[in-house]
Amino acid sequence: YDDRDGYIWMDGALVPWRDAKVHILTHAMHYASSVFEGERCYNGKIFKSREHSARLIESGRLLDMTIPYTVDQIEEAKYAMLKANGWTDAYVRAVAWRGAGLDMGVSAARNPVMLAVAGWEWGAYYGDAKWQGAKLDIAKWKRPSPETIPTAAKAAGLYMICTMSKHAAEAKGCSDALFMDYRGYVAEATGANVFFVKDGVVHTPLADAFLNGITRQTVIGMLKDMGLEVVERHIMPEELSSFSECWLTGTAAEVTPVGQIGEFHFQVGDLTRKVSDTYETLVRA
Ligand code: PMP
Repeated sequence: YDDRDGYIWMDGALVPWRDAKVHILTHAMHYASSVFEGERCYNGKIFKSREHSARLIESGRLLDMTIPYTVDQIEEAKYAMLKANGWTDAYVRAVAWRGAGLDMGVSAARNPVMLAVAGWEWGAYYGDAKWQGAKLDIAKWKRPSPETIPTAAKAAGLYMICTMSKHAAEAKGCSDALFMDYRGYVAEATGANVFFVKDGVVHTPLADAFLNGITRQTVIGMLKDMGLEVVERHIMPEELSSFSECWLTGTAAEVTPVGQIGEFHFQVGDLTRKVSDTYETLVRA
């Protein structure tokens, strides 16, 4: 991803793709002092753009890190980056981090907080698996307690076990891994939230120890508008056998049907298809 044409917005300027570099003594690289966003632009408009910019600032705040830009400035940066690259449909990645500076150690109070906005063209997150239903492994790692790490932040440090779990899943021929949390409840996948269907009612884990995704919130609203009942609650892994349908939600994943989690099977049913189609229409509206 480093050797190609294009532009990346870095701290106020559009720089050629190959020159968008940071110093090796960047604090974030050593201590995970980094927060980011994943967004999708459809037909020239970023879906829930301001919500993503606000979440980026909030993620920084949760890490005691003040991002020196407003929502409006971040909006401007994202659209400037898209325009410079000539994209109307792209994935947008904003990232803020503690840079290199006067200190090199755990404390970084005197180091600048930096912001960059990149993008790339990204199709279906789970590729061809989508309509067959993605196959998920069950991660051996657990989502941590909100008393251990700020779990509501979209922070780089929370992704260390995601990469490890996704690699383990891929080695078994799965597309992704589903995490339980520190209490043993069903939590989320490595980059997406999860929903289940039982007897026409939708159940989804209560977002009290993982990222309450913007897509998750959008889909809950959509389901309620369809007149469906949505129950947000703690879900035990033993319950997986009782659900008929399952799907994942996320900016990159959009609405992706799940066909299998560990030994449990789900059908790509009518409701899953309807939710996926309605979401697709909404993001392009
Ligand atoms: N959980 C994790 C760990 C994620 O990385 C993502 C993707 N940002 C989500 C959930 C879904 O969040 P959103 O719908 O805001 O993209």
